[in-house]
Amino acid sequence: MHLDVMDGHFVPNLTIGPPVVASIRKHTNLPLDCHLMIEHPDEFIPAFADAGANWISVHQEATRHLNRTLEHIRDHGCKVGVVINPATPVDTLTEVLDIVDYVLVMSVNPGFGAQKFIPGSLHKIAQLSRIRQSRGLEYRIEVDGGVSLKTVADIVRAGAEILVAGNAVFGKGDPKQQAEQLLKAAVEASLQKV
Ligand code: ZN
Repeated sequence: MHLDVMDGHFVPNLTIGPPVVASIRKHTNLPLDCHLMIEHPDEFIPAFADAGANWISVHQEATRHLNRTLEHIRDHGCKVGVVINPATPVDTLTEVLDIVDYVLVMSVNPGFGAQKFIPGSLHKIAQLSRIRQSRGLEYRIEVDGGVSLKTVADIVRAGAEILVAGNAVFGKGDPKQQAEQLLKAAVEASLQKV
């Protein structure tokens, strides 16, 4: 379960904090993937880990000492993720790719749901996939923003393995059915991958 945490500073919207994560934790054994769209994430990593987060990701743009912040997540027993906004190049992550479990590529500007996929994100996913292979690394590639039946095939073919979908699942119709359709399209696209 991907949980979007927003602080009204790093992004122009407010969502949930550690108490809500703790409440969700009581009702599911699924991994909780906390995407921190907040300033000063170091101060809050312990609270999210205590609340039951299994994965924690922080934005490259929100941290001055990225390596330290990522180690901080690891020290709290969580999977370590780093996120880049649409305007941030993959190259800014060169020095940390060997210490993360996953890289999250934002394919919209973070802050709101139901936004349109930014096609320029595809080359960043492909670049991350190439770097992983050439450097023999094992991070997984996650994509967040504008994932839908229209975009999912291109996203998967570019190399993404973890897809975050909000509006495409919960926007209209039966969420279970929408999720199944999306997953089916993703699996079909992964089979077509060369
Ligand atoms: Zn997210």
